[in-house]
Amino acid sequence: MHDHDDHHHHDHDNHYSDMQARVKALETLLTQKGLIDPAAIDVIVETYESKVGPRNGAQVVAKAWSDPKFADWLKRDATAAIASLGFTGRQGEHMRAVFNTSQTHNLVVCTLCSCYPWSVLGLPPVWYKAPAYRSRAVIDPRGVLAEFGLTLPEGKNIRVWDSTAELRYLVIPERPAGTEGMSEAALADLVSRDAMIGTAIAKAPEVSI
Ligand code: FE
Repeated sequence: MHDHDDHHHHDHDNHYSDMQARVKALETLLTQKGLIDPAAIDVIVETYESKVGPRNGAQVVAKAWSDPKFADWLKRDATAAIASLGFTGRQGEHMRAVFNTSQTHNLVVCTLCSCYPWSVLGLPPVWYKAPAYRSRAVIDPRGVLAEFGLTLPEGKNIRVWDSTAELRYLVIPERPAGTEGMSEAALADLVSRDAMIGTAIAKAPEVSI
């Protein structure tokens, strides 16, 4: 589970850092020239982190909840099942879907850097890349979840999955009660980015009167 052997090959993260540095330089230049407002950029990045990017993953989860055959496929070969919806990795990295159950909650981290399932979640949030999350998610997952406002029942196990360049994890949250008969689109709206990292659970449906 906390297997770091696969962390020997990390070119993509170096490229990403390199790209981040170039983007930052470009942003600084454009700001200095008065061409852009940094606050506007923050809004765009935030949108991709929390809204646009994770919609792919939410579709995967909603389909898994709605279609047992797809859920089976996702368990056996997440890379292929996810690719069937048109979401593929940038460098062919493999995906594994980890399903929350009544006994077990799954939490994803990359202890060494910031490996993240880009194809289904978009850009990683800042906290995912922070050393505090990366170390504490392994040492004290229950404490970390509490800080995210998620308190799990005492008896529930937490499994922590350490991502690598070759293997990325997607948490499939438990389907909330009271969602019978909901469309996949409506179900997807209950699935947040954090629920697919494991720092949250799926939202309960709004009760209509
Ligand atoms: Fe990594």
